[in-house]
Amino acid sequence: MTKKDKSWNYCGNYRYKLQKLFGWTIKGCEVCGDKNNEDVYIQTEERKYFLQKDIVLKNDTIIKAGWRWTRHGCISLYGHKECLIKARKGVTK
Ligand SMILES: [Zn+2]
Repeated sequence: MTKKDKSWNYCGNYRYKLQKLFGWTIKGCEVCGDKNNEDVYIQTEERKYFLQKDIVLKNDTIIKAGWRWTRHGCISLYGHKECLIKARKGVTK
């Protein structure tokens, strides 16, 4: 297992990071539809997967085999902190 990074919240095979947005013109909360832009966060989702063998990138960086995190197929949402937490996969609503 990869070491847990404290800036993420772990939730089954997914992990989530919340960052507060300042001075962004966005459409409000994507979860509840509220158009109020105050106190809005962006939530990044990453999924755990197992890399079978090392991958060498074009710039010679090596991605080691093992448990890795990917954003492939994951969604980032904007909205209220409470709404985003409820929208996480594996969280009982
Ligand atoms: Zn909301």
